[in-house]
Amino acid sequence: MPKTLAEEKPEYRCSECGLLYPTKELAERCRKWCSEHRSCNLEIIQYAVKDERDNHQ
Ligand SMILES: [Zn+2]
Repeated sequence: MPKTLAEEKPEYRCSECGLLYPTKELAERCRKWCSEHRSCNLEIIQYAVKDERDNHQ
């Protein structure tokens, strides 16, 4: 049967704000934005993975 990659897909964390992203690129964009602007970019964080274990804010 087909193997689902979704469950094995790693998540990437922005080291500045701690949000998780499904791709390294998004996490990197967030990290750059966070480090430069000290705030979150809604255009980026809308892609963040919701993680109830890490309930910040
Ligand atoms: Zn961030």
